[in-house]
Amino acid sequence: MSTPTILVVEDESAIREMLCFTLQAAEMTVLEAGNAEQGWQLALTSMPDLILLDWMLPGVPGVSLLSRLKVHDKLKHIPVIMLTARADEVDQLQGFDMGADDYVTKPFSPRTLLARIRALLRRLDDGVGEVIVAGRMRLDNTSHRLTIDGDEVKLGPKEFRLLQFFMLHINRVFTRNQLLDEVWGDRVVVEDRTIDVHIRRLRRALEEHGCESYIQTIRGSGYRFSVIDPD
Ligand code: CA
Repeated sequence: MSTPTILVVEDESAIREMLCFTLQAAEMTVLEAGNAEQGWQLALTSMPDLILLDWMLPGVPGVSLLSRLKVHDKLKHIPVIMLTARADEVDQLQGFDMGADDYVTKPFSPRTLLARIRALLRRLDDGVGEVIVAGRMRLDNTSHRLTIDGDEVKLGPKEFRLLQFFMLHINRVFTRNQLLDEVWGDRVVVEDRTIDVHIRRLRRALEEHGCESYIQTIRGSGYRFSVIDPD
């Protein structure tokens, strides 16, 4: 999903603008709605990849739109992140009960929100391609197995996630920060160095099969996965 479309349903224009700016800067396409009815119409006509839905909307509240979305045959699979000013646990449970896929409490940082959005979109992506093949490697997303020339390679869970992410984005360079966001998510605090440790473990596992060169260090930038030698 290279350019996902995100529907933003939020009545406060300042927050909506901030969201649009953040999402567009992350190369996402944004659709805007200022109330639940507009949101419903846009969802139906444009089938967005994900919906950011404010809880407190004038007229029909966000949570009512949520329940309407989640019983509609064509729309119920679209992931919804609820935005709320309330950190109230009861509200959150109500939202999840009604089918919200995630929850972000205002005020939130753009980085947190993007990490949540990407995590949800990735879940979708993962469901699409069951097997990724690159060079001599074959990664099975369903059974979580990696084989090289047919031989199984044992990986720790984080190394697997890291490799999976790389293989979903072959030849793209990622900074340590991006990898932290994408693979670790925003809920866990880890140091940049953690990435290096897991990259090292991953390379060591691939080295036994002569595939360590697939994980490439890009000086001053970060890492990328490529089956083509950098030289
Ligand atoms: Ca609002």
